[in-house]
Amino acid sequence: MSVKENLASILQTIPSHIKLVAVSKTMPNAAIMEAYDAGQRHFGENKAQEIIRKQQELPSDIQWHFIGHLQTNKVKFIAPFVGLIESVDSLKLLREINKQGEKVERIVPCLLQFHIAEEETKFGLDLSEAKELLNAIEKEKMQNIHIKGVMGMATFTENEDQVRKEFKQLRKYFEIIKDEHFHGKDGFNEISMGMSGDYLIAIEEGSTIVRIGSSIFGERNYTK
Ligand SMILES: *Cc1c(COP(=O)(O)O)cnc(C)c1O
Repeated sequence: MSVKENLASILQTIPSHIKLVAVSKTMPNAAIMEAYDAGQRHFGENKAQEIIRKQQELPSDIQWHFIGHLQTNKVKFIAPFVGLIESVDSLKLLREINKQGEKVERIVPCLLQFHIAEEETKFGLDLSEAKELLNAIEKEKMQNIHIKGVMGMATFTENEDQVRKEFKQLRKYFEIIKDEHFHGKDGFNEISMGMSGDYLIAIEEGSTIVRIGSSIFGERNYTK
């Protein structure tokens, strides 16, 4: 199946109010353009160098989502154009995004990445760390950052109950933060959860953004 066909069949399974991010990491520009020509505008990348290069080479109306671990020294390169940084996981990173946002006169949209999986290696915050970040935004009056919601990755497992439990947990974190930090305010509405293997469960558990790579573009070949 082609990228275009894959995309069409996935879109059929996603309610129209849910945003599909086509995760194009490691994929060539030609594959991205195939999805673009089929109408896809949101793409996700997890390496700073790669997102910078692709942003320069590809159409300017693409919304680029940064979904990987972001080093603070790379923020200045992506702050001018990034559509959503989905992976804010430290105060140091948050401060740097705000600083670089100020420099380019942008309010940079961000999600707080939570650690919900069993695996030790996955980055992300717990609830108390997330609250610390939100308190710092208020206390330090960071005006060039807009926290729009939360993001998380479930454990890579066949066990659907486990995955569902983790998505429920992320949803709960979202509700708690919305209640405690955004009560009566607009703009905190996004729950980014669900990948190729688990997005249908994520949608059932309240996802508003799904990030799908291999089901659209095929398996990634990291050795190339
Ligand atoms: C690679 C990646 C995805 C997409 O994974 P697939 O299984 O290929 O759909 C989603 N989210 C993040 C954070 C990723 O790194």
